[in-house]
Amino acid sequence: METAEIRRRWLDYFERNKHTVVPSAPLIYDDPNLLFVNAGMVPFKPYFLGQQTPPWDRATSVQKCVRTGDIEEVGKTSRHGTFFQMNGNFSFGDYFKEGAIRLAWGLITASVDEGGYGLDPERIWPTVYIDDDEAFAIWHEQIGIPTDRITRRDANDNYWHMGVPGPGGPSSELFYDRGSEYGQDGGPAVDEDRYMEFWNLVFMQEELSAVRSKPDFDVAGPLPKRNIDTGMGLERMATLLQGKDNLYEIDEVYPVLAKAAQMTGKVYGAHSGHAATSSHPDDVHLRVVADHVRSSLMLIGDGVTPGNEGRGYVLRRMLRRAVRAMRLLGYGDKVLPQLLPVSLDRMKASYPELETDFGRISQIAYGEEDAFRRTLDQGTTILDTAVTKAKQSSAALGGSSTPTLPGSEAFALHDTYGFPIDLTLEMAAEQGVAVDREGFVRLMTEQRERAKADAKAKKSGHAHTEIWKELRELGATDWQAYQALSTEGTVVGLVSDGQRVDGLEQGATGQVVLDRTTFYAESGGQIADEGFITTPTGRLRVLDVQRPVKGLVVHTVEVATGEVKVGEQVEAQVDPDWRISACQAHSGTHVVHAALRQVLGPSALQSGSYNKPGYLRLDFAWNSALSAETRSEIEEVANLAVRQDLPVSSQYMTLPEAREWGALALFGETYDEQVRVIEIGGPWSRELCGGTHVAHSSQVGALTLTGESSVGSGVCRVEAFVGMEALRYLAKERAIVAELGRLVKAQPGELRERVEELLTRVKTAEREIATLRQQQLQAQAGELLAGASDIGGVRVLTHDGGDLGADEVRSLVTGLRSRLGDEHPSVVAVTGAAKGRPLIVVATNAAARDRGIRAGDLVRTAAGVLGGGGGGKPDIAQGGGTDASAVGAALEAVEGQLHNLTGVR
Ligand code: ATP
Ligand code: MG
Repeated sequence: METAEIRRRWLDYFERNKHTVVPSAPLIYDDPNLLFVNAGMVPFKPYFLGQQTPPWDRATSVQKCVRTGDIEEVGKTSRHGTFFQMNGNFSFGDYFKEGAIRLAWGLITASVDEGGYGLDPERIWPTVYIDDDEAFAIWHEQIGIPTDRITRRDANDNYWHMGVPGPGGPSSELFYDRGSEYGQDGGPAVDEDRYMEFWNLVFMQEELSAVRSKPDFDVAGPLPKRNIDTGMGLERMATLLQGKDNLYEIDEVYPVLAKAAQMTGKVYGAHSGHAATSSHPDDVHLRVVADHVRSSLMLIGDGVTPGNEGRGYVLRRMLRRAVRAMRLLGYGDKVLPQLLPVSLDRMKASYPELETDFGRISQIAYGEEDAFRRTLDQGTTILDTAVTKAKQSSAALGGSSTPTLPGSEAFALHDTYGFPIDLTLEMAAEQGVAVDREGFVRLMTEQRERAKADAKAKKSGHAHTEIWKELRELGATDWQAYQALSTEGTVVGLVSDGQRVDGLEQGATGQVVLDRTTFYAESGGQIADEGFITTPTGRLRVLDVQRPVKGLVVHTVEVATGEVKVGEQVEAQVDPDWRISACQAHSGTHVVHAALRQVLGPSALQSGSYNKPGYLRLDFAWNSALSAETRSEIEEVANLAVRQDLPVSSQYMTLPEAREWGALALFGETYDEQVRVIEIGGPWSRELCGGTHVAHSSQVGALTLTGESSVGSGVCRVEAFVGMEALRYLAKERAIVAELGRLVKAQPGELRERVEELLTRVKTAEREIATLRQQQLQAQAGELLAGASDIGGVRVLTHDGGDLGADEVRSLVTGLRSRLGDEHPSVVAVTGAAKGRPLIVVATNAAARDRGIRAGDLVRTAAGVLGGGGGGKPDIAQGGGTDASAVGAALEAVEGQLHNLTGVR
């Protein structure tokens, strides 16, 4: 049975059983504690927590999930995907244990012809919480499962809570026995791969007063309203119903695996049995590829872009792991352009938006692969140098110890170049070099500790959230930012240093919550308003405005004069000049966005923005740098729109209506039922937006693009000044031009020609200087020749060339060598410096080489003394190091070695 069919049957079944079908929320959800939605219940959390009243008693969904904690399991177990879909049915105070168990049993055991999944009842092994006799009895007495197939498990496995005080309850999980070819007898407690968990039923029945760890919590009493939350892994059911060994072999995943196998010439499964836990490494790699490619597709589809932290890092890691796994399988070329479309092809049936959005998605994915390939190449060069060094120092110690790459080098490769440690290990091993893993692990641990400390520091800000929730319970802020610039209001709460207080005195900084305000809270890229709050005794300067929880506006203020107390009547006044400029900047952002799309096409979609009075910045999906012409075209289209004085209007509608209308929503944002659409010039620009705007486009004033840069793979950034700032910016540029004209004595129109002329003159002069220096050197060479000494019949000329550059040293050395002639064996060694680092060049003539003297050998010795390395051919070689004070010693080392060489012969 295809995955799409399993999904369809699920929704039909629960709809027939009076559940409302709720569409999947995006993977990024409005929950500060979650990186990604990781269970079907996440969007329903406010109902389970009693914060909101559910609009239905029963609901069902197929929710997109990503579990980052399962990354390491992928491919090694048979059942863990990083992305997967969780089918859920939910009861809010409606049916409970018996209902949930009966509904589950009904669907899985009904025959395929009857619309069910047709699982063999004999193979189903339920688990229950140790003391949940009620659930045990339902399974045994009502459903008829023999007692030896019902396992009682403790709170580590079968008790659910959110890790914080709140609702909790026992769970009952359903496992399917896949047979002895998958592992040992004995039920789920013995082998979780043979007995595969596919459904978890959670019975929320208790209020917890304290939670210390998963199994350690205090029950305060029964919940007034008992709820049901269940989760069935869609992929796991597909694995069972399609008779596959693991979830990477099902219809939605396997085609990518097959393609990867074909590309790498591997025969999947050739060396593995049924159990994933004992698979051949090649098979594990192929599964990782298939899983990660799909997860990346889904993540980018929901608005994640690769980055170095948080969500972006998870995506980056998965894309890189996929590329790397292909490398380990022996495939070095680009992989995503071949694999991503295969995954799209499988996923688009359930998620058609992936197809319409594939231009953007693939641009981001391919860009990231290209960047990673560069990283790999760069890292490889650095690794090779480090490996060579490790070999040299081992050789210097007589070659008795295995050459070892220091942990610090491996860590730097990992940390700075994103070069994975296992790749370092592997590539070093190929060259016969070991890696100091302990050192590496120590450095990694230190780094992790630092990260942990950081996270802790962030959490302490968490105490605030509780306060905001308390204040929010007093009522939502009556927010008047769109209607007025000033309003009267009452102080409902004050916070200082994370604590609620009754008053703030002159000079203090703290947070103020009013029942009503006109201040714009930072959001949607627009920064917070500036202004003042006037109290009966003084004035508060507003430094920042945020909305830490939905519906609550919080001003951070500094008490400029007087004081403020809870309960006081105050006036909130936004600085009108500030607001006008802020509106100009935000409308300007929409204008630039629309202009971008008009010039570049609809795939140039905004992925982030920032605006403040006079300035705006916009990031958008685009893979290459914009040419100067394209930029001025965008600038011109934007300014034309400003000049046309297009009306700017806002209206509210539902999200589907807004989509219908073609309004652009930001990826990954979550929106309310009613959304606000800002329109500029009718359909020319329609965007979902909560910001403040001008009434007519001409009010944006002048608009000038200042720069454009690439901020990450597949993302471009444009920056612009608007209004007065634009004029100031242009005036500043004009002043620079005037100043330059004065300096080079030219009119602005002639500047370019004049500068070009000057540059040519500089180049010519430089060339002349170089020639003169050469001549000087050759003249000096005559004097130097007199200083040649004799070592065992070889004429040897060493010279400290001071700060002569590499080219100069080389030509001096070759010049001296030819002047010494061919008749006698001769060797020349001269030192110099490049960018502050000492260097040495050694040359031999044919007669010297006949005596077994090689320039390369001499240079290696000398460069070693300089604290570096080098090499070259027997006739001429170059090396360098870091210790400039050792130049004399390096030349002596050359002479010393010549003594040895000539002495033995
Ligand atoms: P497991 O112990 O097998 O990792 P779990 O206890 O973490 O599973 P739950 O948190 O109970 O799983 O999630 C409910 C259901 O979601 C599971 O019964 C399973 O079918 C599915 N599921 C959980 N994690 C994954 C995953 N990484 N990939 C695919 N399906 C999953
Ligand atoms: Mg579970």
